[in-house]
Amino acid sequence: MLSVQKAHTFYGSIEALKGVDVEVAQGEIVTLIGANGAGKSTLLMTICANPQARQGRVVFEGEDITRTPTFEISRKGIAHSPEGRRIFPRMTVMENLQMGAITTDEKNFDDDLKRVFDLFPRMKERQGQRGGTLSGGEQQMLAIGRALMSRPRLLLLDEPSLGLAPLVVKQIFEVIREINEQQGVTVFLVEQNAYHALKLAHRGYVMVTGNIRMSGTGEELLANSEVRAAYLEGGH
Ligand code: ATP
Repeated sequence: MLSVQKAHTFYGSIEALKGVDVEVAQGEIVTLIGANGAGKSTLLMTICANPQARQGRVVFEGEDITRTPTFEISRKGIAHSPEGRRIFPRMTVMENLQMGAITTDEKNFDDDLKRVFDLFPRMKERQGQRGGTLSGGEQQMLAIGRALMSRPRLLLLDEPSLGLAPLVVKQIFEVIREINEQQGVTVFLVEQNAYHALKLAHRGYVMVTGNIRMSGTGEELLANSEVRAAYLEGGH
């Protein structure tokens, strides 16, 4: 479904991606783990062509989207829930969800809204509340819900567990599984919470300073001594 081929992405003269290859097949949950500054967010942003890869290609469902404008990429069926959630704090929950639906056909709105409210009943209760006054976990739910309102076939999630309490992290990961299994949405998940991410994902990649160092099934990576030492030892 998604193929990133030898992608090089720069910020000025800093090369953040140094020839990255990643494949995501339809129906999968694939995770990308790695330390701070490895380039994980940059890869998700490169898939959305903001910034664009300077060399290499991003192919989605057979189409080269490396230089497609970002808003068109959203119309093609990719939604990006960025790091730090970036909901609109002064807008209500409902208005945030409406913003997510901006690239889709109006006639789908009620169905899509129902689907998001079924996943996140809390959002239904809080639909009139301003986004900025929600708790961290609720803001994350809203960010995922807003991304789902664009009816994506591929959902890019950047560190959904960041800064959340363990119980809330568990809920968020359960919802990601539900989105994948029940709604058939393919998921590419960036995480620093390697243990939970590898438990959830079918496959994973490990990124080190702009390169993919390793890949395998979630189970293989969880059992790998290098992964354990770098990302798992000391508890999860
Ligand atoms: P984290 O987990 O801390 O979010 P990450 O793996 O997502 O890290 P990126 O945010 O993709 O890493 O950053 C990769 C590299 O690119 C880092 O060295 C970072 O400092 C640099 N970088 C990211 N954004 C910019 C920017 N807008 N301008 C210049 N350099 C940037």
